[in-house]
Amino acid sequence: MARFQLKAHDRRGQDVSLSYDNQTSELLDSDGSPWPLPYVDKSWSVGAIEAISQSSPGAKSSPAVLKIQLGLSCNYACDYCSQRFVPHAEETTKDDVPAFMALLEANLSESPQRIEFWGGEPLVYIKTLKPLAEHLRAKFPNASFGMVTNGTLLTPEINAWLDEMGFGVGISHDGPGQSARGPDPLEDAQAKAGILDLYERLAPQRRISFNAMVHRTNTSREAIAQFFLKLTGDPTLVIGEGAFVDPYDAGGLANSLQSDDQAFAFRRQSLDEIRRGRIVSLDVARARMRDWVKSILERQPASVLGQKCGMDNADNLAVDLHGNVLTCQNVSAVSMAPNGESHKAGHLSDLSSVAVKTSTHWSHRQECVNCPVLQACKGACMFLEGPLWEAACDNAYSDHVSFFVAAFEHLTGCSVYRIEGDLPESRSDIFGLSVEASQGVPERRVIPIGVSHA
Ligand code: SF4
Ligand code: SF4
Repeated sequence: MARFQLKAHDRRGQDVSLSYDNQTSELLDSDGSPWPLPYVDKSWSVGAIEAISQSSPGAKSSPAVLKIQLGLSCNYACDYCSQRFVPHAEETTKDDVPAFMALLEANLSESPQRIEFWGGEPLVYIKTLKPLAEHLRAKFPNASFGMVTNGTLLTPEINAWLDEMGFGVGISHDGPGQSARGPDPLEDAQAKAGILDLYERLAPQRRISFNAMVHRTNTSREAIAQFFLKLTGDPTLVIGEGAFVDPYDAGGLANSLQSDDQAFAFRRQSLDEIRRGRIVSLDVARARMRDWVKSILERQPASVLGQKCGMDNADNLAVDLHGNVLTCQNVSAVSMAPNGESHKAGHLSDLSSVAVKTSTHWSHRQECVNCPVLQACKGACMFLEGPLWEAACDNAYSDHVSFFVAAFEHLTGCSVYRIEGDLPESRSDIFGLSVEASQGVPERRVIPIGVSHA
């Protein structure tokens, strides 16, 4: 159990103290009684998850979500890409598709609900992707298809095909912070035309998003939203991702928060943008507010929390076209995790023997067990270790804590400025009030993001 005292101001500006337990999601008044909220009775007697680790490896079953790794080649080399230094496995081609389909036929007991096609850059593999997706569409007509692309290789012909095959597409682009990532496809007339052509095709069915990452030089989600609104002219646009980057190497570390002062400034900016309702087009804003409201109103126990990306879940399966089962879509069968285990966890032909030994569930990390934002963060990347995990955790804490404040304010009217518990001072003092009194808590306003627990 990790219980925290939340120091806050109520609607009249008076000091109040609340108590919050991250393992039971209980929110209590200073006298120990439940904070008066419209709680929802929910049975949590089932739903506990497997807490995977090197000594308690993750299993896999016939997947609800099938992620197919086509290869790690990319026509770009973005600075903080998680795949940048991952050794490439032997390349596959369209000639591998029939054997791969036979493996699926023989070893999946149920149709996947969703199939994702991953690179590198998946469109580098268009000669493989086309026959693969067409076979899969014929076999699994009801599965949703998804792909994330940098957009540079989109053409009217490819776009028509993606539309016809029912793809949902995420275009990786950091908006005003793209230059920190790498080259900008929107500065290439042909690439820009391909991206906007696909946007026009898929946006009416809400099957396309721009996926932007937040990083040290791209901290404003409001600026990201404005960038894509200007690009598309579409007030209903959807922006995916929207979280702070996890660092996988020196490039990722350089794009991480570098100091407590940067962290405080980012947290203040984030809360201000949430309060002003300027980031509602970002999926992440609605999802995090919803997660917090659900967590508190349903008093969600931490024992049901899987890892943030879901790849610890037996139902989420990442494979390459040779049938190798991988930790996730961002690694290869010949790459090793920081804990010395291979990212190749087994083979599609023998799913019951798959053992994911590369990763650590949050419940095995004391920092997460003792963390107030656990219920929404759910640990950083599950296979990172050491300084890279610590930097990912620091980024994640600063990324989540402003949503924590906003959600608690939405529920209780109390504006939390300090979290007391087993925490470093730079986490207790959310906005740096003790070191930078002149900055203060961002001006208080009504939270305009519509949230409900449903
Ligand atoms: S912020 Fe860090 S300690 Fe907290 S849940 Fe996320 S990864 Fe774990
Ligand atoms: S394990 Fe999850 S968070 Fe880490 S790289 Fe893979 S998908 Fe991303």
